[in-house]
Amino acid sequence: MSLYAVMGHPVDHSLSPQIHEAFGRLTGRDVHYERREVRAEGLAEALSAFRAQDGRGANITVPLKGEAYTLATRISDRAERAHAVNTLAQEGGGWFGDNTDGAGLIRDFTVNHGWSLGGCRVLLVGAGGAAQGIVGPLLDEGIAHLAIFNRSPERARDLATSCHDARVGVAVIGGASEAPFDFVINATAAGLSGRLPALPDSLFEGAIVYDLMYGPKAELFLSHARARGARQVADGLGMLVEQAAESFLLWHGVRPATGPVLENLRGLVGAG
Ligand code: NDP
Repeated sequence: MSLYAVMGHPVDHSLSPQIHEAFGRLTGRDVHYERREVRAEGLAEALSAFRAQDGRGANITVPLKGEAYTLATRISDRAERAHAVNTLAQEGGGWFGDNTDGAGLIRDFTVNHGWSLGGCRVLLVGAGGAAQGIVGPLLDEGIAHLAIFNRSPERARDLATSCHDARVGVAVIGGASEAPFDFVINATAAGLSGRLPALPDSLFEGAIVYDLMYGPKAELFLSHARARGARQVADGLGMLVEQAAESFLLWHGVRPATGPVLENLRGLVGAG
């Protein structure tokens, strides 16, 4: 049996063990996947202990994606672009670092929801680890414009600058040139504390609104958007399953079917 884990803090409610063990059953592999609480600055020690147990791969979540980027001995292009790692695979004496968040989001948009991003105007709310992972893949889909808005404006500015792409800028909320958006993507953790990012109501009108959070935690933002005229809303459960499938592909060399796992989790998690 091969050992995998999700590392970060908090991970006690992470659905990753269920997802990866279900992928294992679907593809005929005996996968054992654990949750490991690891606090900031604790990743190097946790990975040494994991390696000693023959741990093969780890998903990395808040607050460790930047630390994982630093610790990885080899980095994929998409992790390099994001400056953040959410997947580590044991490789020789070190760890290969990848970032599957963006690929997961794009697959959920284009395959699960059937949304096309080409030529669209996108507002990305948030500039943390998840936002860093999705900017590059959004640009690769041929969007026309990406505006980034964040509670701490300097982080939005740094993320926009790091893209070196004329289509990306910091959102000037309330500025006439910034509206309307085809997509509004919430990549903040505001919902965890029952808060909404400070956005004007008009931004939601006619837009497709997506929250990276899922289930009841996404409901505050999505119902707020729905009430302000959003055309369609969706939570990030599909992204969660799709980014996990990308990690599974890296570790096991096979892409699992995601539909049955997503359907099963939707029943457990609730609407979104
Ligand atoms: P980070 O901690 O790296 O970043 C948090 C972001 O949320 C920052 O932009 C922060 O702004 C913002 N934020 C936090 N609290 C508030 C608030 N009260 N009001 C406004 N903005 C706030 O987290 P991640 O980027 O890794 O994750 C963000 C969310 O995305 C999480 O909820 C996570 O669960 C979800 N996620 C979902 C995935 C999926 O597969 N569905 C994958 C990855 C993440 P500031 O810079 O000002 O602090």
